[in-house]
Amino acid sequence: MALLTSTECVSRYGAAYKESNMVLWDVPSELEIGVIPKRIYCNKDMLIPLTLAFKALISTGYVKELKTFDGCFNIRQKRGGVTQSLHSWGVAIDVNAAWNGLGKTPTLSQGFVKCFTDNGFDWGGHWNKPDGMHFQLKSFK
Ligand SMILES: [Zn+2]
Repeated sequence: MALLTSTECVSRYGAAYKESNMVLWDVPSELEIGVIPKRIYCNKDMLIPLTLAFKALISTGYVKELKTFDGCFNIRQKRGGVTQSLHSWGVAIDVNAAWNGLGKTPTLSQGFVKCFTDNGFDWGGHWNKPDGMHFQLKSFK
């Protein structure tokens, strides 16, 4: 299935700098396990998928594998690319960045990844140039 694109984000949310669909999400306390943040500034469309993914991490125990939460909203170009990163609209998160660098072999377990991919996310670890730290919302199409 096709990945979510910056073009799709522009048509749905407008220019990234407008931060039109962004919210400061007060993460429910039952999800504040391990290094899951207390607050995340993210796109509104992330609330349900992220809630489900965090719940899955907790119920399966894979939350232990979550070492660092490395950010969501960040207006920038794709690393090594010409288009805007989906982080610009707050529809992507990075985790365990130190062990899952761009172009490196990802270290996240399949079970951990599944907690996200079962709940509305695509994972960058499968890409030609792996981005193992990166999870982004599935395409709206
Ligand atoms: Zn990312």
